[in-house]
Amino acid sequence: MTICSEIEKILNNAEKLNETLNSFLTVEREYATERAAEVENSANENQPLRGVAIAVKDNICTSFSQTSCGSRILGNYRPQYNATAVEKLSNAGAIVVGKTNMDEFAMGSSNENSAFGAVKNPWNLARVPGGSSGGSAVAVASGVVRAALGSETGGSVRQPASFCGIVGLKPTYGRISRFGLVAFASSLDQIGIFGQTSEDVAKVLGVVAGRDKNDSTTAEVKVNDYVSELSNDIKGKRIGIPRALFGEGLDEKVRSAVEKSIENYRSLGAEIVDVKLPNSKYSIAVYYILATAEASSNLARFDGVRYGFRAEGSHDLREMYMKTREEGFGAEVKRRIMLGTYVLSSGYYEAYYARAQKVRTLLKQDFSNAFENCDAILTPTAPTTAFKIGEKSDDPLAMYLSDIYTCSANLAGIPGISVPCGLSSEGLPIGLQLQGRNWSENLLLNLAHAYEQEFPLGAKPEISVTE
Ligand code: GLN
Repeated sequence: MTICSEIEKILNNAEKLNETLNSFLTVEREYATERAAEVENSANENQPLRGVAIAVKDNICTSFSQTSCGSRILGNYRPQYNATAVEKLSNAGAIVVGKTNMDEFAMGSSNENSAFGAVKNPWNLARVPGGSSGGSAVAVASGVVRAALGSETGGSVRQPASFCGIVGLKPTYGRISRFGLVAFASSLDQIGIFGQTSEDVAKVLGVVAGRDKNDSTTAEVKVNDYVSELSNDIKGKRIGIPRALFGEGLDEKVRSAVEKSIENYRSLGAEIVDVKLPNSKYSIAVYYILATAEASSNLARFDGVRYGFRAEGSHDLREMYMKTREEGFGAEVKRRIMLGTYVLSSGYYEAYYARAQKVRTLLKQDFSNAFENCDAILTPTAPTTAFKIGEKSDDPLAMYLSDIYTCSANLAGIPGISVPCGLSSEGLPIGLQLQGRNWSENLLLNLAHAYEQEFPLGAKPEISVTE
């Protein structure tokens, strides 16, 4: 099949499935068709992602399409430039086929906070796909694309990957440029990658990783050849299990699937050891103080002057700011701006923000200590399988607990990956999470790869592309 006809087919699938799943905010038919012809006619046949279709979360800037962040306030915003990751994909021959739905400003765990409607889980349409990168997860899980970009501040790639039965990687902080990723909480944000397999993730990571002069937080660390380094041999790798995290709040179905995956790893030759992460119990509290504090500052720029939407009918500048933010932001974003402003206010700064920073350091030290004794740490990715649409939308605290296993990696800056490890009795996917030392993406991908070779999920979602 030629690249043009392949892309044509993918665009048709994207449009058709979108009627049911709502995973794409835009399908870029015109742009992708032109790009397909360009790639097909180019003499450069060695591009690593030549002709590969990719979906991109709508908080990653694209000059050829909107970048709404799932928000009314940026509903008509079109950036002047491409994010570095998008630029690199394009230089590698990939073709962006559309921008995906998401929780507004990447705040959420279910995709119900999108200003453009909830995304449906292709395994069960009454369930959420997870969030905040739910649209990208569903674009991959439903078979429209093999890989997609999402973003992670506290679990937004790993958790939806787990709910949708695919692989999701959050790389080390500084591994992928954040230039052109709309900021939520800059010290935690990182672009992440979804793939149908870990090899898909490895291919994309090799292209988008690396130092970028436009993002001073990217590191001058060698980019591995993640694909050629993939191996099934994980003998002797030490996998640490923080048993204390397998207790309260963990759904029984998830617990038993993840326990079984530990035995499976043992059968693959990994050594299983106990580790302790004593401060993990504070991770949600620390995350929601620091993330909201940073968000309240980052989101100050959306004022009706510089970007996107402006409310009508104001009499002066101040009223225009207020009306624009009132009408442009949804409830969860407003809640976080208020919470963040509160924890940063002079009377409470020491009690909340400064204290949370200290606990963040302790969390980091926990990981350093644990990694003296193991190569990777295995936990569930999320405490439950995909929950019902509407089940937690009125209870933000219950929703926040979805990130209990994931947000500490963002706080510590380390990489983490979610790998499918089974289906519940209701036929919903369950994910296991592996976290590693800084820059150990190659090891995490190997551990994931070895697992999926021996213990594949072996099922497809109810709603997916039929060949
Ligand atoms: N669910 C978390 C939140 O709502 C994480 C979001 C993210 O990783 N972007 O903040």
